[in-house]
Amino acid sequence: MFSEQKIPNWLFKRAFLTPDRNALMFYNEKWTFNQLKEEAERTAKKLHYRGILKGDRVAVLLNNHAKMVIILHALQLLGCEAVLLNIRLQEQELAFQIKDSEARHLISENELLIEKKEIQLHIPNVILSIEQLEETAEKDFEYVTEFHTDDICTIMYTSGTTGFPKGVLQTYGNHWSSAIGNVLNLGLQENDAWLTAVPLFHISGFSILVRSVLYGIPVVLYDKFDEARINEDLISGKATIMSVVTTMLQRLVNNLGDRSYHPSLRCFLLGGGPAPVSLLEICKSKGIPVFQSYGMTETSSQIVTLSPEDSLEKIGSAGKPLFFSQVKIVTEEGLAEPQEIGEIVVKGPNVTKGYYKREEANEKSFSKDGWFYTGDVGYLDEEGFLFVIDRRSDLIISGGENIYPAEIENVILSHPGILEAAVVGISDEKWGQVPYAFFVEKNGWHVSELELQKLCEEQLAKYKVPKRWIKTSELPKTASNKVMRRRLRELVEKNEWGN
Ligand code: ATP
Ligand code: MG
Repeated sequence: MFSEQKIPNWLFKRAFLTPDRNALMFYNEKWTFNQLKEEAERTAKKLHYRGILKGDRVAVLLNNHAKMVIILHALQLLGCEAVLLNIRLQEQELAFQIKDSEARHLISENELLIEKKEIQLHIPNVILSIEQLEETAEKDFEYVTEFHTDDICTIMYTSGTTGFPKGVLQTYGNHWSSAIGNVLNLGLQENDAWLTAVPLFHISGFSILVRSVLYGIPVVLYDKFDEARINEDLISGKATIMSVVTTMLQRLVNNLGDRSYHPSLRCFLLGGGPAPVSLLEICKSKGIPVFQSYGMTETSSQIVTLSPEDSLEKIGSAGKPLFFSQVKIVTEEGLAEPQEIGEIVVKGPNVTKGYYKREEANEKSFSKDGWFYTGDVGYLDEEGFLFVIDRRSDLIISGGENIYPAEIENVILSHPGILEAAVVGISDEKWGQVPYAFFVEKNGWHVSELELQKLCEEQLAKYKVPKRWIKTSELPKTASNKVMRRRLRELVEKNEWGN
């Protein structure tokens, strides 16, 4: 099924099968699949008029907007590879990704082009804003009517949490099989609609566009996360599924108060990082259906999912691999036993064929028989449920004992006055490494080091209790809002913090 082959252009196919079904809703505007196809064709002709040709690599730097959806489809009609850039990146980070990806053109919007002027220097050919695109003439060309499953559809950079971001090559086959694996797990209902407030430049958002076209369901798109407005939509039954990260779910639940969601709401697909057990318990008590998941840019969306029916017994687990995917745990000795901790290794048609121009990383991460070494650490239980523990590169080895920062961070975060926490391993003459803890208080709180120290001593083995406590007003984060522990380590090592 997933061997190299040609499949019909999915937007054309969908517009042919169900032309009048809703494809996209953006505030008060609405497009059917036929209208979406026509808009994508018109936009593709404009892009072509401006000199964008089949096979070109095109960087896209856009806010979530209906126009972005149309442009992404237009690029597929043109046979272009889209490099999806995170609008929250700094100019120099964007410049790096543009140069590294060798994108020839850039499609952006006036506001972002003014804000990030510098990046234009790195685009050899066309630089186009959506505002200019409106006024551009159209030029006919031959649409791509078939996608080769092995062709690159998108290039997305990893978040750069553990090192420099790497460009992940995502093929049509990767996206296609990810969407099918997802629907075999979640099922499909006549009234399904997918609320999308996650960025379309991340795999979490882009994958919804592919699902919409493959399943024939609408995307209810938001340009920014607005919990009050989204809750109104979910209470009135405007969408049945929504993709969220932890902070979104937290804010939605707080805003919901005593109200309940519409009975047609059947899934919050939670991904992107670990989920605090306390939040999952609140959702359960309120009957809010949360599907936890584990995935990464390299797996073209989630590869492991936990259904609500399992979540009571398996709280904290990310679930089981989707239908076409496999997961195993590997230690230095080989395949791990159930409950034994090791590196999470995955395989499936949704897994990338590699990083762009990163020979060393490719060598390290991919085995000859198609397994991908994720760099994450976890274990499988006897029933095959995956528990993700932490990043391998953040492991602290102290006096020969392994310490996973996330375990300590969870204890610190259970203090009601703590907003954020990060634990890192710092070199130590006696123990090799010892844990240091950074923490941010919630507004209006004063939490003493002693209090936190005691909390950890009550719940953790002595060697896991942080040796230093560093209070700070914020933690360094990536543009995807993930804490960069490596930056904290560097700061301590350079004597800029905590010594
Ligand atoms: P980089 O690869 O550049 O360091 P990154 O890994 O943060 O960045 P992403 O692809 O955005 O880039 O994130 C995927 C990672 O997020 C996973 O490898 C894992 O570490 C983390 N993650 C995803 N889901 C979960 C989960 N359910 N529990 C714990 N961690 C998760
Ligand atoms: Mg990663």
